[in-house]
Amino acid sequence: MALTITEECINCDVCEPECPNQAISMGDTIYVIDPNKCTECVGHFDEPQCVQVCPVECIPVNPDVIESKDQLMAKYFRLQAAAPSQPGSAASAAKVPAGTALPGGGANAPEV
Ligand code: SF4
Ligand code: SF4
Repeated sequence: MALTITEECINCDVCEPECPNQAISMGDTIYVIDPNKCTECVGHFDEPQCVQVCPVECIPVNPDVIESKDQLMAKYFRLQAAAPSQPGSAASAAKVPAGTALPGGGANAPEV
């Protein structure tokens, strides 16, 4: 599930910088959560960080976006793969230079 922000939001700004997925942004009148980016903090933290810091407790589960923990983890990996390459990211970890693990390195060339 993703989370959502209700009209009780007082635009205090504290949740937006806490989101590890940059899922929170200012909407027309109050802050909003992009359900395509919210993983409920799965992959980053044990608890939703925005809920931890919100002073008016206005960030419930979005009833329109029901996802299992596995789906949230898959969303986390999709977001990581789509993010600009950073040290330690899944995208950069996938890059293994070709030919680096070859044992013997040419010592077994045929003799003439
Ligand atoms: Fe961002 Fe986590 Fe809040 Fe979702 S639950 S909006 S990922 S801080
Ligand atoms: Fe709104 Fe809560 Fe975020 Fe403050 S922390 S901007 S009240 S949703």
